Amino acid sequence: MAKVLHCSDLGFDCDGVIRAKTEEEVLKQAAEHARTVHNLQTVTDEVVAKVRSAIRDE
Ligand SMILES: [Zn+2]
Repeated sequence: MAKVLHCSDLGFDCDGVIRAKTEEEVLKQAAEHARTVHNLQTVTDEVVAKVRSAIRDE
């Protein structure tokens, strides 16, 4: 089963979808996406927690 994260679930006006095999990989890609697309330079523990709770099984 894959893990999927919809960027819009994080409150961004963005139709980005991140898919990976593991939660860790989704987090990694989400951090990259946030940095490059949303210009979010620091991924705080709060952001990580938010991302984790938005990750769903696919
Ligand atoms: Zn996004």
